[in-house]
Amino acid sequence: MKFRPYASSSEGNLYSLNDGQTSILIECGVPYNEMTGLIGYPPTSFMACLVSHAHKDHSKSVKELVRRGVAVCCSESTARATGILNHSFSVVLEPERETRIGTFDVMPFECQHLDVGSGTRIPCFGYLIRSRDDGESMVFATDTFYLPVKFPPVQIWAVECNWATDLVPLDCPYRDRLFQSHMGLHVLIDALRQNDLTRCREIHLIHISKSHGDPEMFVKEIEAATGIPTYAAPRNIRRVS
Ligand SMILES: [Zn+2]
Ligand SMILES: [Zn+2]
Repeated sequence: MKFRPYASSSEGNLYSLNDGQTSILIECGVPYNEMTGLIGYPPTSFMACLVSHAHKDHSKSVKELVRRGVAVCCSESTARATGILNHSFSVVLEPERETRIGTFDVMPFECQHLDVGSGTRIPCFGYLIRSRDDGESMVFATDTFYLPVKFPPVQIWAVECNWATDLVPLDCPYRDRLFQSHMGLHVLIDALRQNDLTRCREIHLIHISKSHGDPEMFVKEIEAATGIPTYAAPRNIRRVS
C-alpha cells in the first residue's frame, strides 16, 4: 500500500492510495486543471475519489470528477452540500459500513469538525482502508479535533496535525473554535498512544496550519512519542511553502 500526498493544507488537499491493483484519490480540494500536474497523470485514471467533507479545500473538484466518470464517494450530507447527490457517479457511504472499491475495503467513520468561521458542525468522514491485495491498511483522518474511535493495527496513518497550543496566540479570535475543529499536536499524540502501533511503518501528518503549525517540530515530536518514521505532507508539491 502506497500513500502519496500532493497537496495538504486549508488551501487544498489531494492524496492518492495504491495497492498495486487499485488506485484511488483521497480528497480533490484543488482546481481540476491542476490535478494532472500534481499527480503526474490524469484524475480519470483513478477508480474513485474518497472525500471527507464539503469544505472546498477537500471537495473543490467533485463535480468535474463525476462529470468525467470518476466515482466520488462521501457521506450523503457531503454529496448534497457539494451538489452531486443525484449524479450517477456519486456514491453515498454510510458510517461504519464497509464498501468495496476495487481491492480496497473502505470503512467510513465520523469525525468531529466545526466550521471555524460560523461555528456550525460540518459532517466529516475519516476512512479506514484495507487492501485485499497486499493485506495492508491505513487510517485517514483530517479536519477532526479528536479521533472518536480506536483502530485495529494499521501500517499507515495519515492524520491531521494542525496546531500546537504554543503556536496559537491567546488573543486569536477563533482560538476556541479552532480547538474544536482541527487536531492539535498533543491530541494526536494522545490518540496515537491509545492505538496499537505495532504494525505501523509510517505516519503522515496532514493539514498542518500555516500560521499555527510547525512541520519540523511536529515530525520530531511524533517520532519521539511513537518511534515511527513520520513525514509532514507538503502544502503543495508544486509550491512548497
Ligand atoms: Zn480542511
Ligand atoms: Zn474543513
